[in-house]
Amino acid sequence: MDWLEELPAGFSGWCTWQATTDAQIEVFCCRGHSPGPLALITAGVHGDEYEGPAALFSLPPFLPPDRLKGTVVAAPTANPAAFAAGTRLHPEDGLNLARTFPGNARGSSTERLAAAIFESLVTRADYLVDLHSGGVEYVFLPVVGFYGLPNCDNPSFRAARAFGLPALWQLPPTDGVLSCEAWKRGKIAIGAEYRGAGQLSGDGVRDYRNGILACLSHWALLAPTSEKTGAVDVFEGDWMLAAASGIFTAHCRLGDAVRKGVTLAAIMGNRGEVQQQIASPCDGVVLGLRSKAYIRAANWAVLVGKSMETNG
Ligand SMILES: [Zn+2]
Repeated sequence: MDWLEELPAGFSGWCTWQATTDAQIEVFCCRGHSPGPLALITAGVHGDEYEGPAALFSLPPFLPPDRLKGTVVAAPTANPAAFAAGTRLHPEDGLNLARTFPGNARGSSTERLAAAIFESLVTRADYLVDLHSGGVEYVFLPVVGFYGLPNCDNPSFRAARAFGLPALWQLPPTDGVLSCEAWKRGKIAIGAEYRGAGQLSGDGVRDYRNGILACLSHWALLAPTSEKTGAVDVFEGDWMLAAASGIFTAHCRLGDAVRKGVTLAAIMGNRGEVQQQIASPCDGVVLGLRSKAYIRAANWAVLVGKSMETNG
């Protein structure tokens, strides 16, 4: 037995969870009067992203326990040290929590944090929504990501559609990513991205909150609502990386439709010379862009999404 199992039916409130010896996480928990599945909503896995945390701060009034079947656990600042430092990476060991799951209980600060979140929360969850944004250094078109094929018999794809953003992204199955590791273990998992550049988008807070509530209805933790049935664009693709360090100059804007081979960005060296030109690998849409002007080799540069055919 532990704090999560001991939550009484009808509980709604914030708990301070001592996840590891050096990480306390504020967690909002709501357990319905009726039993049901467990939905875990995480944000702040990267400490410089704000739409997800703010959406979860605003969630409690929308979750009355008498209307909930099952349990919702929301962790708005899943990486508290990085959140306090305002950084993507953990300030002590420099690791990326979003590449560290399922973690190691005897490892560094980030590895122990990942292990605690995975063992205590993820393994018990039926559903996972992991909210991100571009953070300080990147900016994303609002997209909700799914794993597997864009087919109506894929529950991750169906959940992403239910979330209600106009663009869907087939997430690359990257080891160590929270939603990917959950999906590999049979959880129904999605991950979302919304703007970034170190700012807080009010639209992002609203759309993320509405997306969570729509998924909770879709998963029958809340009463059903009419799901959005409008057309969605479904994309595949992954980030192109910088091969050089210097000033990143974008020649495209977020959301632009681009043709294969067109120059999307350049990286200038210390004499202003072009160190690298980044060309579009396909016809597609600019889903993500470097926002911080200085870029280092191996940083993400541009993400072009290529349209996918969907079945349903
Ligand atoms: Zn992130």
